[in-house]
Amino acid sequence: MARLVVVSNRVGIPDGTARAGGLEVAIRPALKKRGGVWFGWSGKVAEGTPGPAKTVTQDKVDYVTVDLPQDDYDEFYNGFANRVLWPILHYRLDLAEFTRRDLGGYFRVNQFFADNLEKLLRPDDIIWVHDYHLMPLAQILRERGHKNRLGFFLHIPCPPPEILTGLPNHERVVAGLCGYDLVGFQTENDANNFSRYLANEVGLKRASDTGFRYEDRVVEVGIFPVGVETEPFERMARRAAASQFVSKVMASMAGRALIIGVDRLDYSKGIPERLHAFERFLGNFQEWRGLVTYLQITPTSRTDIREYADIGRLVGEAVGRINGTFGEASWTPLRYINKAHSRTALAGLYRSARVGLVTPLRDGMNLVAKEFTAAQDPDDPGVLVLSRFAGAARECGAALLVNPYDSEGVAIAINRALDMPIEERRMRHQANFATLVKNDLGHWAERFLGLLDGEASSAAAAGFAEPMPRRAAR
Ligand code: UDP
Repeated sequence: MARLVVVSNRVGIPDGTARAGGLEVAIRPALKKRGGVWFGWSGKVAEGTPGPAKTVTQDKVDYVTVDLPQDDYDEFYNGFANRVLWPILHYRLDLAEFTRRDLGGYFRVNQFFADNLEKLLRPDDIIWVHDYHLMPLAQILRERGHKNRLGFFLHIPCPPPEILTGLPNHERVVAGLCGYDLVGFQTENDANNFSRYLANEVGLKRASDTGFRYEDRVVEVGIFPVGVETEPFERMARRAAASQFVSKVMASMAGRALIIGVDRLDYSKGIPERLHAFERFLGNFQEWRGLVTYLQITPTSRTDIREYADIGRLVGEAVGRINGTFGEASWTPLRYINKAHSRTALAGLYRSARVGLVTPLRDGMNLVAKEFTAAQDPDDPGVLVLSRFAGAARECGAALLVNPYDSEGVAIAINRALDMPIEERRMRHQANFATLVKNDLGHWAERFLGLLDGEASSAAAAGFAEPMPRRAAR
């Protein structure tokens, strides 16, 4: 079995301090099984020129990291990745702040990654690259003569070509993905958008239903909805719901129904729109006043970027307005918290909640939606109110699907979720849970690597659990 080399912006070094995030949980078993390398940025900014890469070895896996100089951090990470690619890939051309300097930084860091990576590579390694920070990496390695199997997975959405072409130099950045043998997306919509881009903008000819001919190779386009550790998460939630922390939170609710939202502070998450919907709910369904508490947990992120500070202000104002308008001396309708919480604590809160509000304007997958579902008590489950624009809506079709821009519609869905009879709650939860068990995190990594390694013949051959993606007519 070929050795696996994983490349991502950040590396999940098992130093005992970091909490295990989704990517780590998915990738570590595959790395351990094959032996391998996980390469990426250390998360540290070097003073002056960065030193050589550092390696930590554990369980047959080398975790190799490099520091970045300040300019690279500013231009590559804060600049091109988070100020240009993130908004555009989330359909927000209006928020992109493109500069040629940042584009230069983006390619420079990808070159720097390639310089360090090729010192470690063996000819038969298979290489799995993650996310929008590293789209050109394969082309750079190909230009240097590397012939390894190279796969790429985009964790965030892929918009239609009409938006992708709004990215200056998209021919170098997006079309650069043709350097990979397999390009994976979260949903059929994302894969179709990219396929249309390859056909119409790059002018590639199809080699099959899912493949495109590019130079002397075929670029496969596949659909791999990222999952969560569904059953272990349910067990964790069961334990956590009885923890001191969750008991204390629930005691403070004084018997009121808990509505929960958990999102990084990011404009893609639709938090101001959601607060507006909650405001409509309190206005239109007065019978619930005093009977519900909405807890919104929102760790801040990317605070160096202006749009993130702007959204923070907007949300803070809305929270003040809602509590000021509807609150009583004995009742605060909305609790808004900027602290990050452990996944364990969140699991316990999800299980104790009557309603999970997950209403992004656009999201590649949205793991909170899947974790909320996994965490529920099957005998007395809460109800997920989910944006149709989250990737998770494909597999959680039994949630109450909403349009996050329609605040009145979301208010009606909150009321419906709170009023829902137990049989309907159980039925909806069972349907979503069964899909998430089949499409769990381990399955996601196995399917991707199976295809990259050539163990399956085409992306179409390796399906995932119902609802099956229907290939659009071409
Ligand atoms: N998360 C966490 N603590 C928090 C907030 C979020 O551990 O205070 C986790 C959450 O459980 C989920 C991830 O962060 O696993 C967020 O993933 P998602 O796909 O929902 O959104 P992203 O932040 O990646 O856009």
